[in-house]
Amino acid sequence: MSNVRRLYELQEIDLAIKDDNKSIYDIEGKLQDDSTVVEAKAKLEEEGSRLSEMRKTEKQLDWDIEELSVKMKDVDKQLYGGSVKNPKDLTSLNEELEHFKQRRGIMEDGLLDLMTDLEQQQRAFDYAKSELGKAQVEWRENNGHLVEDRDRLNNETAELEGKREDAASQVDKSDLVIYERLRKTKGGEAIARVEQGMCRGCRINLPTHTLQKVRTGQELVYCTNCGRILYIS
Ligand SMILES: [Zn+2]
Repeated sequence: MSNVRRLYELQEIDLAIKDDNKSIYDIEGKLQDDSTVVEAKAKLEEEGSRLSEMRKTEKQLDWDIEELSVKMKDVDKQLYGGSVKNPKDLTSLNEELEHFKQRRGIMEDGLLDLMTDLEQQQRAFDYAKSELGKAQVEWRENNGHLVEDRDRLNNETAELEGKREDAASQVDKSDLVIYERLRKTKGGEAIARVEQGMCRGCRINLPTHTLQKVRTGQELVYCTNCGRILYIS
């Protein structure tokens, strides 16, 4: 295979990648704004973290009440077990027990309030979850086919990138440098086919000696008008 043919095949792959990227870009533009889904997700996350915070507080409160109850049992034992006889000590133990009772009462009230809030919060969380589900279904109904097309194009591009790598490795290094440089200035088309003695890149008739050089395919021949590398299949 001649060098220019290898380059031409590389260009075919590059143009296909360019086409796919353009299509992907167009699809991205057509894909409807998904801010409703994004907002619903954020809302669910917010409600979820509030819920788990409240559950944590509930657990902590449960644990504190339990701990306090154990302490109270201990004081109770000292108070009525008969081991403490000094009236002064008994009075202070009684005061301690009273103090614990009060504290536990406050905590239990707090726990009851929290449980009511938790029920409410659970409802808010469930609601946010169903709202997200609705938003997702609606978005998919409106954009499903576009997403499919985009995924297909993305896969195709990945495959082409692999092919491109193979093709580029077959090309002479210095030719590749020239190709890449020309590609940038010639809108992706560094190589122009010659058809009926004409450069298809700029549609100018080529001199006979240029055509002859292109036909031998030994070296890269450039269009004297547009500067593209000429290729005859
Ligand atoms: Zn030309």
